Amino acid sequence: DIFQPERSNSKGWDLTHAPTLTAIDHGRAAYQTDRWTCGPIIAGEPSDGSAHEVINPALPGDIVGTTRDATEHDIATALNAASPWQADLMTRAAALNAAADAYEANAEELFALLAREAGKGLPDAVAELREAVDFLRYYAAQATAVTTPRGIWTCISPWNFPLAIFTGQIAAALATGNAVLAKPAEQTPLIAARAVELLHAAGVPKNALQLLPGGGDVGAALTADIRIKGVAFTGSTATALKIRTSMAEHCAPGTPLIAETGGLNAMIVDSTALPEHAVRDIVNGAFRSAGQRCSALRCLYVQEDISQNLLKMLKGAMDELSLGNPWHLSTDVGPVIDAAAHKTIADHIATAKAENRIIHQLNAPAEGHFIAPTVIRVNSIAAMTREIFGPVLHVATFKAHELDMVIAAINATGYGLTFGLHTRIDDRVQTIVEKIEAGNIYVNRDQIGAVVGSQPFGGEGLSGTGPKAGGAHYLPRFSATQAPETRE
Ligand code: GLU
Repeated sequence: DIFQPERSNSKGWDLTHAPTLTAIDHGRAAYQTDRWTCGPIIAGEPSDGSAHEVINPALPGDIVGTTRDATEHDIATALNAASPWQADLMTRAAALNAAADAYEANAEELFALLAREAGKGLPDAVAELREAVDFLRYYAAQATAVTTPRGIWTCISPWNFPLAIFTGQIAAALATGNAVLAKPAEQTPLIAARAVELLHAAGVPKNALQLLPGGGDVGAALTADIRIKGVAFTGSTATALKIRTSMAEHCAPGTPLIAETGGLNAMIVDSTALPEHAVRDIVNGAFRSAGQRCSALRCLYVQEDISQNLLKMLKGAMDELSLGNPWHLSTDVGPVIDAAAHKTIADHIATAKAENRIIHQLNAPAEGHFIAPTVIRVNSIAAMTREIFGPVLHVATFKAHELDMVIAAINATGYGLTFGLHTRIDDRVQTIVEKIEAGNIYVNRDQIGAVVGSQPFGGEGLSGTGPKAGGAHYLPRFSATQAPETRE
C-alpha cells in the first residue's frame, strides 16, 4: 500500500505582483557578477585536479565560476567513505524539510545561478526552485512510509533542471536512508555544489551525500561498481542504455535503474479547438525554456481545415517573443546550453532550410548560444528520428478521417513522454487518451511543467523506466522490500 501523507506545495513567488517582482530582481542583482567555485565535495581529501571555467551560455564574457572535475582518486575516496544515513526517519525528514527552507531563504542567489549558469529567466527559475522545494518536502513526508535503504545510490542529473531534478533524485535516495554519490551535469556544477552545501548545513551527513562533478567518464565510473545499489538518471535515452549495459556488467543483478529520458512529444489540435488557447499552449510548450525540457512539444498535428488560420496566428504570437539574455525581465526565450547543443540544433534547422521546409523563424542575437524559435514542416512525426532539444517545432497536418493514423504514428516513435490535445469534443478526449501511449497527457493546456505530487512525471518506452518522479511509487524503488515474518 502506498502511503499518501498530508503535504502542500511551495507557494513560490507571484511575479505578477509588482513589489514581489521588484524585490526579487533587486535581491538577485547582488549576484550579477559573483563567481562561484565547485569541486568534488567528498568525505575525505579531494585531489587538486585542474580547474576550468563555467561560462554563461547567453554572454560569452561572463565567467560564472570555476569547477574541478572529480578524479579517479576522488571517486575511490567517495565510494569508500559512502555510508547510508543511519538516522531515524523523522530526523531525515526534518533535515530535508530544513533544506527546503534553506533553498527558499537563498532564492535570490539560486535565481542568479539559474540565469547565469543555466540560461533560465526568472519565471523558469521561480518554477524550478518551487519544484526543488516540493521534491524535498514531498519525499520527506513520504519517508515515514518506507524504511529500508538499499545502500549507495548514484544520482546523475541533467543541466536543463540543474536544481530541481538534481535535488529530486537526491532527496528521494536520502529520504529512504541511502547514501548518495551525485554527479551533476557537466554544464551546471555550480548550482549543484551550492545545493549540496545547503543540504549539508541542513543536517545531511557528509558521508551520506557526496558530490562528484565531471563529464561522462565520472558518470561511467559511478555506474560500474558492485557497491552501487541503485542508479537514478535523467538525460538522453542513449546514455540510459549505456548505463544499463554498464550496470549489467558491474552491478548485482537486481540493481535498479530509474531512468527519465527523452521524448518526441506530440500535440493534436482538431478543428473544434479554441485557436487562441491552442496557440498560447503551443508557444509555451515548444519555446518556453528555449524548448529545453524533455516534456516540450516537438511535433504539432493540426487538422487541415484550420491549419492556415492557426499557423498564421502562431507566427503572430512568435513574432511577439523576445529572445535574449534571460537576466532581463523582458526576455521570453533564452539561450541553449552550450556550443555543442547549438551546433546540433542549427544543423537540423539548416537541413530543413535546404529542403525548403521552414514555416517560420525568428532572428537570434549573434553573441551567445542562441537558436531562434523555428517552425518546420514535416509530413509525419515518423520523419523525426530523434529528439531535437531546442526551440524547434515541427508541424504536420491531418484530415478528419486520418486521426487513427496520426495516433498510430505518434505511438510508433517508441517514445512516450508527454502528449497534448486540444479539442472541444468530450468523447474524443476519452478515445484519444486511451489510445495514446504517453506518461503525461494534457488536455486543452500546455504539456510542460508537471507539478510534484499532483502530476507525477515520467514516460514509457524509450522515454524512461518509471516509476514517476514526484509520485507515490517513486520512493519505494529506492528502498529494499523486506518480508518480515513473525511466529504467531
Ligand atoms: N518535469 C518537467 C516538465 O514537466 C520536465 C523535466 C525534464 O525536462 O526532464 O516540464
